[in-house]
Amino acid sequence: MKMLIGENWVDKDDKIDVRNPYNDDLVDTVPSGDEDDVEAAFRAAEEGFKINRNLPVHQRISILYKTAEIIRNNQEEFARTIASEGSKTIKEARKEASRCIDTITISAEEARRIVGETVPFDSREGSENRIGYYYRFPIGIILAITPFNDPLNLVAHKVGPAIAGGNSVVLKPATVTPLSALKLGEALIEAGLPWNVLNIVTGRASRIADALVTDSRARMISFTGGTEAGLDIVKKGGLKKIGMELGSNSPVIVMDDADLEQSVELSVSGAFWAVGQNCIGVQRIYIHEAVYEEFEKMFVEYTQKMKVGYQLDEDTDMGPMINEEEAARVEKWVEEALKEGAELLTGGQRMGTLFEPTVFRNMPESAKMNCEEVFGPVVNLYKVSSLDEAIELSNSVRYGLHGAIFTKSLNNAFKAIRELEVGGVMINDSTDYRIDMMPFGGVKWSGLGREGIKFALLEMTEPKVVCFNL
Ligand code: NAP
Repeated sequence: MKMLIGENWVDKDDKIDVRNPYNDDLVDTVPSGDEDDVEAAFRAAEEGFKINRNLPVHQRISILYKTAEIIRNNQEEFARTIASEGSKTIKEARKEASRCIDTITISAEEARRIVGETVPFDSREGSENRIGYYYRFPIGIILAITPFNDPLNLVAHKVGPAIAGGNSVVLKPATVTPLSALKLGEALIEAGLPWNVLNIVTGRASRIADALVTDSRARMISFTGGTEAGLDIVKKGGLKKIGMELGSNSPVIVMDDADLEQSVELSVSGAFWAVGQNCIGVQRIYIHEAVYEEFEKMFVEYTQKMKVGYQLDEDTDMGPMINEEEAARVEKWVEEALKEGAELLTGGQRMGTLFEPTVFRNMPESAKMNCEEVFGPVVNLYKVSSLDEAIELSNSVRYGLHGAIFTKSLNNAFKAIRELEVGGVMINDSTDYRIDMMPFGGVKWSGLGREGIKFALLEMTEPKVVCFNL
């Protein structure tokens, strides 16, 4: 596929191979963008901003609705692209494609709700004759940088609200999974998005990230990815707005009054969805001692039923990791955890890019597998004697994206809601629950700001106050 700069789909001799992580088959190639392409993309985005901010809202709405329609009509093709270039099984990819339709549709809906309000200027003595209001205006060029694990819908979460709000976009998708983002770009152009409003530069961060991040024409960097890259962006970005959707090692609490079947089923799915390469994936489960043994037995049984294999086979439950390097990293973490005294209950083996769904107990608190984001198919079970202990351990790490509790007690639920240091608490669901309109984001090292269209729109627009002295 080609990248999108200004009014052209641009090709280059220098290419990047996009390969299926299961069998290394070549799926497609994309141009390897460089600093000149970044410069051209920003120049185009300056034009694009002039165009989109002046586009009547009803036109932005109809472009977004039409885009959603195009994706709906080609949903299976979008799903197969997601599953071929990335890790997701075809079933998981279909869900992502359908969520992308939601994200773009909600962007169209929210475009008509970008409202202001009147300001009571006469609330201050001496301002009696003044009357006015504020409205929200688009901020300019949004630099969007996206990860590999949801290669379509996380792009839509930036591009949808940016366009709805009247901005323009320079997008850099993950190098390993650029095709879904380019397909979304094609759908937007087919739907009538004026050229220049969206620019997609494919290329390695090692080559183009600095040129992108330091460019003062970008008014906001909207980043989703790992903490390391996030910190680098914060250091280099300069005076621009920053939105950061980073990682986590999400905790789930299972109380003695929980529906065990439900908590096991949802936590197994939450731990191994997208091979655990999921920012809200379940990594730490704190189980009340009264139900621990039963929970552990059921959890291991459910895990062992998962079919690992080729992600495009209909009956595969868990596909490959994104590449062999990542699978080898998880293997190393598993070896380290075993040396530190953790007990392996099932899994732990790697076969190329495939990694068995893996369950540990007695993971030491100091182990990387406890403190850091594993971003792979590994989950740790811990026995606790009280809700206080479970909450304290849940909060003991530097991340805080989602937390979850399984319980029938309102008191337990509300205590967890109050005390878990996270951006979202799920009750009787695993941490891996999200719909696209809800405010989404983390605290501590899990991020800055919120996505979820309406909330992203607040970040991508600014209030302008207007006052008449009559
Ligand atoms: P990543 O390595 O941080 O890469 C994410 C994106 O940033 C890619 O486009 C990458 O480009 C680019 N990038 C890498 N280094 C950069 C730098 N120094 N400056 C600017 N851009 C840079 O993350 P990933 O492995 O793709 O994704 C996994 C991470 O994303 C996990 O930590 C996960 O938790 C997090 N995540 C968070 C959310 C959320 O909503 N909170 C959602 C999904 C994923 P290249 O591909 O060219 O390296």
